[in-house]
Amino acid sequence: MPKTYPERLLTLARNPKVKKAIVLEYAQEPGQCENCGGIGFLSFFLATIGPLESPAEGRFVSKFHDGKWWSAPGYIEPAKDSEKTNMRFGTVSVKCPTCNGIRRIVQAEYIPMPEEVRIKIAQIKARMAVRK
Ligand SMILES: [Zn+2]
Repeated sequence: MPKTYPERLLTLARNPKVKKAIVLEYAQEPGQCENCGGIGFLSFFLATIGPLESPAEGRFVSKFHDGKWWSAPGYIEPAKDSEKTNMRFGTVSVKCPTCNGIRRIVQAEYIPMPEEVRIKIAQIKARMAVRK
């Protein structure tokens, strides 16, 4: 379960037309970001129709959740004069705020140079010093 949701995603979910916001979760991959599970973004299914006994027919996308069907238009609703942006329903995804979309928490790791590589570099440097 993600701990931090992007504000943009929460704003979309708070739209009065949204009847239900279903959190889409992914399995946590080891070593990956714990907020998004290594996907790089967080997603909601924002239903504008429901609960239903069967999926809405026509240009709708539907999801089965808690024993009921929830549907949303399968297209972007153009903005009305009172709204600033087009309304997005159905599956909406926003970049994960914890890893900023790079899917893992980058930790600096010191890897010591192998001994033979160090010797080789020293030999090359010595040879170059002789040429000068
Ligand atoms: Zn993340």
